[in-house]
Amino acid sequence: VLDPRLATRRLPALAGRRVVEVTRSGKRVLVGFSAEGRHRPLWLAVHLRMTGRLLLHERPVRGTDHLRARFTFDRGELLFVDPRRFGTFDWFARREDATPRGIDPLSPQLTARTLADMLRGASQNVKAWLLRQDRLVGVGNIYASEILHQARIAPTRRAGTLTRAEIPRLLGAIRGVLERAIDKSGTTFSDFQDARGIEGSFQHSLAVYGREHERCRRCKGSVRRIVQQQRSTFWCPGCQR
Ligand SMILES: [Zn+2]
Repeated sequence: VLDPRLATRRLPALAGRRVVEVTRSGKRVLVGFSAEGRHRPLWLAVHLRMTGRLLLHERPVRGTDHLRARFTFDRGELLFVDPRRFGTFDWFARREDATPRGIDPLSPQLTARTLADMLRGASQNVKAWLLRQDRLVGVGNIYASEILHQARIAPTRRAGTLTRAEIPRLLGAIRGVLERAIDKSGTTFSDFQDARGIEGSFQHSLAVYGREHERCRRCKGSVRRIVQQQRSTFWCPGCQR
């Protein structure tokens, strides 16, 4: 670890371990390391935040800017590059401890019924509700606007008032938006790259986010921007009720 901000705890011994799994958990990337010798298995949870990138190189590279950590393997290396330094490392002995409490929106656990159960009685507006990480994990600010536009639901609606017709629509929009975004390697506003160095391209598919005063692609109404919980929400009052 090259950046002391990432080393808030004493670093566990990694030499000799193998990476046995790399997966996503909510907004974090989990890296599982094997148990070796007297060491127990270990999980690293990486939150990329705004500008973090995990870059996998088959051969070592020199002179990388904003390098915060480097993992060296028998073949190649994994770099953690992060210009704004908001990204975090957390270490866990058990995978369960590294897994957030909410449901992953892409897991089969989430059905229209479980979503309805979670929404029942919720007094927050639905935009804020989508951003809570203890109900659904992984929905961020950009995608919350896109999801509600696709579902034709106003972001100001109280979450607990969604109807039986709206909840399956919301579920379909959550899955549809996140799957399309993952397919396009995410939304790149500055210089995000995935592990193979590919920039995201979902920013070209955004229906409302960042499009204030532009025409809604569905109803030709005007896209508006409002602020909820100090964060921008973009929506179309013409087709989101
Ligand atoms: Zn519209």
